Amino acid sequence: MTVTLHGFSWDASSSYARGPALAPPVIRAILFSESSSSYSLSGADAREIISAYDFADLPDDGAEAREAISTRIATTLKAGAKPLSLGGDHSVTYPILRAMKEKHGPLNILHIDAHTDLYEEFEGDRYSHACPFARAIEDGCIGTLVQVGLRSTTPDCRAFGEKHGVVMLGAEEMDAIPYDRLTGPLYVSIDLDGLDPAFAPGVSHPEPGGLSTRDVLQILSALPAAPVGADIVELNPERDINMMTAGVAARFVKELAALMAQ
Ligand code: MN
Ligand code: MN
Repeated sequence: MTVTLHGFSWDASSSYARGPALAPPVIRAILFSESSSSYSLSGADAREIISAYDFADLPDDGAEAREAISTRIATTLKAGAKPLSLGGDHSVTYPILRAMKEKHGPLNILHIDAHTDLYEEFEGDRYSHACPFARAIEDGCIGTLVQVGLRSTTPDCRAFGEKHGVVMLGAEEMDAIPYDRLTGPLYVSIDLDGLDPAFAPGVSHPEPGGLSTRDVLQILSALPAAPVGADIVELNPERDINMMTAGVAARFVKELAALMAQ
C-alpha cells in the first residue's frame, strides 16, 4: 500500500487570518530537507512510502474547490493508494471525508484540535474551517469521532457533539482516549492548533494549554489500526517561528505515512 501526499492550498474558509494556503509547499520542502532524515521513529522510510504527490492548484470558488478536493482524493483511492493530505485550513477535511466515505463507509476518526469544529455555521459559512466535522456527521461520513486537545469550545458545539455521541477530550484527558473505538476504517485529522503554542506556534488560533509533540506521537503510536487516510491542517507559515511548526508537521507526515503503510 502506497501513500499519495496531497497538498490543498486553501484558506478562504478561515475565519480570522489567512496563511494556511501557503503551508503545503513549505511542509514538502522541509520534509525531505537535509536538516533531517526521511525515517519515521519506527524506522520506515517516508521517501519510499510516499510514492506520489498531488499539489495542483484549487479553483477559487469554495464549492468548486471542495468538489476538486473530493475528486482528487477519490482518484487516489481508485489507484489503490492512501491519501495523506496537507492543508490548508481545516475546511478541507469535509470534502476529503466525503470521498473517503464512498470507499470505506463511515470512518472512525482521531481528531486532534483545540476546537471541536462542530459549528452549524460560522459567520454565515456552513463550510467554514469551524464546521467540517458538523458537515461530515450530517453526511454520514463518521462512525466514532474522538476529539483530543479541546480547550476553546462553546456550549452550542458541546451540545452538538453530545447529541451525536462525539468523544470530546481536553489535552489533560488524553489518558481517557477510547482506543478500542478507533478501529478500522480509521482516519486521523491533526489540526496543529491542538498542540500547545510552545510546540506549534505557527497557527492562526494559538491556544495555550495544549498537547506536546510527544503527546501526539504517543497517541499515534497507540492507534489499534493502520489509518486509511490522514490530514495535517492549519499550519500558518506567516505565524511560524524558525519553521518550528512546519518541522512538527513534517514529523507527523513521516509518522502517519509509516502507520498508513502497515
Ligand atoms: Mn480545526
Ligand atoms: Mn483548531
